[in-house]
Amino acid sequence: MSLTEEPGSFTAAVGGTSPSTGATFDVVDPATGQVFAQAPALAPEQLDGVFEDAQRAFSTWRLDEAARRDALRAAADVLDLRAADLAPILTAEQGKPLKEAANEFHGAATWLRYYAELETPREILRDDESGFEEIRRRPLGVVSAITPWNFPIMLAMWKIAPALRAGNTIVVKPSPYTPLSTLALGEALRGVLPDGVLTVVTGLDPLGAAMVSHPIPRKVSFTGSTAVGKLVARGAADDLKRVTLELGGNDPAVVLGDVDVAEIAPRLFWGAFANNGQICLAVKRVYAHESVQPQLVEALAEIASSVRVGRGTEPDVQLGPVNNRPQFERVEGLVADAVAAGARVAAGGSTLDRDGYFYRPTILDRVSDGIRIVDEEQFGPVLPVIPFRDEADAVASANRSEYGLTASIWSSDVEHAANLADRLDCGQVAINQHGRGVQVHLPFGGHKWSGVGVENGPWGLHGFTELQVIAGPARHTA
Ligand code: NAD
Repeated sequence: MSLTEEPGSFTAAVGGTSPSTGATFDVVDPATGQVFAQAPALAPEQLDGVFEDAQRAFSTWRLDEAARRDALRAAADVLDLRAADLAPILTAEQGKPLKEAANEFHGAATWLRYYAELETPREILRDDESGFEEIRRRPLGVVSAITPWNFPIMLAMWKIAPALRAGNTIVVKPSPYTPLSTLALGEALRGVLPDGVLTVVTGLDPLGAAMVSHPIPRKVSFTGSTAVGKLVARGAADDLKRVTLELGGNDPAVVLGDVDVAEIAPRLFWGAFANNGQICLAVKRVYAHESVQPQLVEALAEIASSVRVGRGTEPDVQLGPVNNRPQFERVEGLVADAVAAGARVAAGGSTLDRDGYFYRPTILDRVSDGIRIVDEEQFGPVLPVIPFRDEADAVASANRSEYGLTASIWSSDVEHAANLADRLDCGQVAINQHGRGVQVHLPFGGHKWSGVGVENGPWGLHGFTELQVIAGPARHTA
């Protein structure tokens, strides 16, 4: 696979056995705002052949668990080996620094190895002279996987690794903003996985809708916005496909009055600004006790002002551009709205004076519930810091959202924070480090409008299976 700066010169084979297509769509480099490549645009009607191939592959892939585990191990080795040469493709279309792009491929390898090694003991409830009862987990069949543009490789692998280990085959559609890296992933794994086991298809949004309504897949695993997640749920309901939905978040960090501000500020900052805030579970609003809020604003502002923002290929860059124009304009609009409502810009608050979608990391003070930057998911490099007096008010504010993905509580009294966690309506609560619970072996999923089902750990594997009970008379003779 080659990558050049010439528009239209990118050629990428579709992984697996999907048909080639003459049609293409533009891929933009967010660091320039210019089209730099073309990606294949599969038409929805071309999905028939893709899903039929995946269905055919399923009939043999499901049979041999040991072979599947070996294939996942081999796939992990390939991604570790190829991470450095695949990373520039991800950086070019997504914007993130090269090192982080490479880490997505290494992270994907970690997920593959975890699911290759995960032991899944037989679940026998009874097996004696009166009879036996056994619970088995069967693969579902073909899976449609649909992913967003913030972590194209990692989030695809959260689906691919458990789905394949469980015996399913999978067709993955990345976001039209970041199609190339997932195509490259599919191509890198061609030959490691049998044909039709993993297929990558690229196209515009209607291709995603067609993957939901197509009769062959039995499961849709979707990561993206809540608005589209609801459409996916409706589409899947028609023929009762199983769904896992990993959706948006407006994650609060609750900072209690007993913290050491200087000590927590860097961790809190990166919990909000890693990947330019374009993380479903990034800290999106801070509720800080009024006794520490002014100091915290200044500490966060100081860090924000020192961050190196630039093209992902430049040395030592910490944050790249925002991924796409609509998102960039949304961030600008939310900051303008907050300023009009009386917010003070403690750091940032403007674009960089260069081409591309660069926005300075921004800290907002004098903000409160009820303004858009606090109430909505910004998904960008802006963080409002809101004071509170009573813990109960902070909890009520944190829970005010329709979202319920994750939260964090910051306190020198870990036990107290852990007790407070019980009162937050979300899928994970981390103490003193936002996102601490996002690990391959722990379940990740949202409450309320942040999702349905979970990914990762054995629970993520179970999401790609259906239970079957086998009950019979005694099978052992004395
Ligand atoms: P998006 O919902 O716009 O798009 C996600 C994917 O859905 C893309 O591949 C898109 O082409 C496809 N799509 C669009 N319309 C569709 C339809 N009608 N049917 C089926 N598929 C369709 O989201 P985005 O802008 O790419 O990503 C940002 C959002 O994703 C944020 O809200 C973020 O919080 C969320 N997200 C959630 C998680 C999580 O694990 N909970 C992780 C990352 C991102």
